[in-house]
Amino acid sequence: MATPSLQPENVETSPGKKPLPELLPARMLNEFVYCPRLFYYEWVEGVFRGSADTADGSARHRRVDGEPGAFAPAPQLAEAGIKARSIELSSDRLKLFARLDLVESADGGAGVEVTPVDYKRGRPADADGMPAAWPADRAQIAAQVLLLRDNGYACREGVLYYAATKQRVTVPVDAALEAEIASLLEQARTAAAGPLPPPLEDSPKCPRCSLVGICLPDETSALHALELSHAGAGRQLALFAEPAEPGRPVRQLVSARDDLRPLYLNSQGMRVGKSGQVIQVREKDALVQEARLGEISQVNVFGNVQVSTQAIQEFCRTNVPVCYFSHSAWFYGITTGLSSRNVLLRRRQFHTADNSALALELARALVAGKIRNQRTLLQRNHIAPPPEALLQMKRLADEALLAPSQASLLGIEGAAAATYFQHFPGMLKPEDDFDAGASAGAGLRFDFRGRNRRPPRDPVNALLSLAYSMLTKDLTVVCQALGFDPYWGYYHQPRFSRPALALDLMEPFRPLIADSAVLSAVNTRMVTADDFVQSGPAVALTEKGRKGFLHAYELRMGSLVTHPDLDYRVSYRRLLEIQARLLIRYLDGELMTYPPFVTR
Ligand code: SF4
Repeated sequence: MATPSLQPENVETSPGKKPLPELLPARMLNEFVYCPRLFYYEWVEGVFRGSADTADGSARHRRVDGEPGAFAPAPQLAEAGIKARSIELSSDRLKLFARLDLVESADGGAGVEVTPVDYKRGRPADADGMPAAWPADRAQIAAQVLLLRDNGYACREGVLYYAATKQRVTVPVDAALEAEIASLLEQARTAAAGPLPPPLEDSPKCPRCSLVGICLPDETSALHALELSHAGAGRQLALFAEPAEPGRPVRQLVSARDDLRPLYLNSQGMRVGKSGQVIQVREKDALVQEARLGEISQVNVFGNVQVSTQAIQEFCRTNVPVCYFSHSAWFYGITTGLSSRNVLLRRRQFHTADNSALALELARALVAGKIRNQRTLLQRNHIAPPPEALLQMKRLADEALLAPSQASLLGIEGAAAATYFQHFPGMLKPEDDFDAGASAGAGLRFDFRGRNRRPPRDPVNALLSLAYSMLTKDLTVVCQALGFDPYWGYYHQPRFSRPALALDLMEPFRPLIADSAVLSAVNTRMVTADDFVQSGPAVALTEKGRKGFLHAYELRMGSLVTHPDLDYRVSYRRLLEIQARLLIRYLDGELMTYPPFVTR
């Protein structure tokens, strides 16, 4: 199962596609035959993401390519038994280019003939018990044969070497195969000039595809089918509709959880350095934490924590974002590597934002999703779920879907928030001895009386502010990694230093991740009243309290949830990425609507 990390992508996307190089690499012909969508991602959009398969393949190719040999031009090649590696050839006739792993020369009877040998990591196909070439490999090696011929060499066939079984498969290139390759080249060029091809349907190729986490083949097909099944109900997916008729199950082709973990540096005076591939955290010269670079997804720095230049350089090189917060957890910046070249995705993002009707449609979906999720949280966690409030929130969620303007949507969201936070205290369930603990400490209590901020004036508001700050940061990281501009949104209007798109995408997740983490921290006593300090009207968490809350937040991010439309379980952290990718699907035009995440 693919475990894509949130590594930035090199993506250049339509519309207004960049001009492509005239020569098509033969490797891309292989990708086209494997899957036209994969070809389009890699060749047209410049997306590449390594997988275990591609890493292994690259290593094999490096070993082969590492020993260059001499190879005379065709007219002077008179010697059999020569092996030459890493030969670059092109053909203006075919508008084709290739780097050949290996070319061998042999006596062909009527003169010296050459044979290209291409190395493949896997196994050959099976043809009645005999090893055979896979169609994509067959096209690639045939293209190499044609390149050799166009450069004057006598070449009848190519050889595929499958490393997994150590078997060679010979591919003779006759007139029929030559015509087939010419036709495939034509089809590939036509595909490159068009839109992104649709995903393969239920294909066994997808689980092994390195781009499966970007492509989301089954997810895109399933959501598109769901849209078609709701076509009679209008463009917008109904939030309270009955579940759709079960279609083909969506295969879970990406891992449920991220294998990497975030690093939180919370204690003042900490110093972060690098030793080899290990990040070391020291406090007063004592080594307090070590983490291997390949295990860290992001670094979060609170207040006065020093990170060495060497560590920053390594984080940039490996695309690990470093997120900075003030001592009171105000999120104010990220350091990333030279990551996003996804300029055309951003253009589509801006283009849609400039279309007020489309922007409103997206905003409606996000706000309605948030209200629905707030309502579900109340339903699930309130000590005595208030029927009138739940009814009102259902009405407001429906109204949000039909809001005639951004201003009216703001009003609906505000009314729902007022109802929700009015009943928020009913979800706080401190233990009986909790109040005693509270009065023994700073005299603070978890008696929430409404949302306040800048500064938060009670412990629950301090926790909510920290939770929203963390979630804003996480969605900003997701937006940047995928190539969005986090500062240009559809609901939140652009304002200096405000990551509007991250805030947009965050709306449905505020109750499910941030509020839920706060409830969990309070109700399970991961944070107690002693974990707060008061300074004037402001209430803030101590270092210990913040550590306790961040633990609750990470537990929530790592917990699994069933996606209602895709019907598989993923962590909330993975879900943030999936939802952002579904926004790309919407901007690409593959989905008619943006489906906000609405928990059942
Ligand atoms: S995941 Fe499947 S549909 Fe998508 S690019 Fe890969 S092979 Fe093609």
